[in-house]
Amino acid sequence: MSVAPLFRALEQSLRCLPGVGPRSATRMALHLLERDRERAAGLASALVDALERLTHCNRCHNLTETQPCGICRNPERETGVLCVVGSPGDILAIEQSGLYTGQYYCLQGLLSPLEGLGPDEIGLPALFARVQDERPSEVVIALASTVEGEATTHQIVMQLKGQTRLTRLAQGVPVGGELDHIDATTLSQALASRTELGR
Ligand code: ZN
Repeated sequence: MSVAPLFRALEQSLRCLPGVGPRSATRMALHLLERDRERAAGLASALVDALERLTHCNRCHNLTETQPCGICRNPERETGVLCVVGSPGDILAIEQSGLYTGQYYCLQGLLSPLEGLGPDEIGLPALFARVQDERPSEVVIALASTVEGEATTHQIVMQLKGQTRLTRLAQGVPVGGELDHIDATTLSQALASRTELGR
């Protein structure tokens, strides 16, 4: 069986996407070539443009095509609150909530000695320098609730304790979640971070 090498190459390239296995790569390649060549061309040029023009903001490390990024240079945003996240995707998610109006600092990953990611690799020294320089009144730590996220949060707290108010996102019962479907760890975190409703 001989399959066009360019088709195979396209399939292989699509498999770099998260969650795309061999079968979906084949389906996607066929869809782009057989059903929607126009949008496929749009996709190709959007990808080239993004790769050429998007870089990381030199202040917060978010993805941007200007220096600094739109969030960093928006004069209407609060300057005294700094939110630490683990990836540009987390900034998108928080911005979508529309409830946060402060500044960001995006780490370049989370501490993971096994993957060779230490404080320098993920940009902790730059975060500490920025806090020392700008003296925000609050640093909100919004990192994943995983072993790596907890280790990174711990390191930040150890370093910044005493310099500013440190907070983290509440952890616990998801909206729409039934208590008896929630695992014990999540439930105990929810209990520990319960909030006052009145007295
Ligand atoms: Zn920025």
